[in-house]
Amino acid sequence: MLPAIILEVIDSFQKIPGLGKRSSQKLTLDLLELQLDNYNELIAKVQTMKEVIKFCSICGFFCDRDVCNICSSNSRNKHQICLVEKTTDVLNIEKTQVYSGTYHVLNKLISPIDNIFVQQTKLLDLLQLRLPDKIASLKPDQTIELIIFFKAGFSADSTMAYIKDFIRQKNWQSKILITKLAEGLPLYYNPDNLDQATIIRAIEDRRNIEVV
Ligand SMILES: [Zn+2]
Repeated sequence: MLPAIILEVIDSFQKIPGLGKRSSQKLTLDLLELQLDNYNELIAKVQTMKEVIKFCSICGFFCDRDVCNICSSNSRNKHQICLVEKTTDVLNIEKTQVYSGTYHVLNKLISPIDNIFVQQTKLLDLLQLRLPDKIASLKPDQTIELIIFFKAGFSADSTMAYIKDFIRQKNWQSKILITKLAEGLPLYYNPDNLDQATIIRAIEDRRNIEVV
């Protein structure tokens, strides 16, 4: 019933993860309703955004320069690195305003049953590039805290196991403290569904993980 080009735009919107047919159709038809100057401005900005936005060379979060606002801020504790799976996790934690450390976005967690190995994640950027420099510049009484903020489950366990093995092989046990979120969280929690109060409690009430 709708003209072909409208259906094609709806199809294109549906390529955005999480956007279903109904929302895609609504967005498409809303776009058609926009005044031409507003429409042109939107399309131009989306184009520019795609051209200029890249990922921070340190942590992997969005930025429009080489290094993001969080990594370049002097008020951030560079000895705290919160490991998250997705850039949206950073946004969720930042909203709570209780965390003043830095992040490392892994993009994917290791999951051998899904054929996802360490090379497909950003974990080696952390372990092989980011941590050695940091450890070399530590004073004797300082440590680096890695805070684990993964959706609990098999891939989180595989990723943790890799991190622990790496730390053991490098003999970094006395230099790196691994903490995970509070015990009070549901076993298979999903960071996307955590409310702010739960994230705050989880960050403030962290537990150490032994690397033996
Ligand atoms: Zn960064």
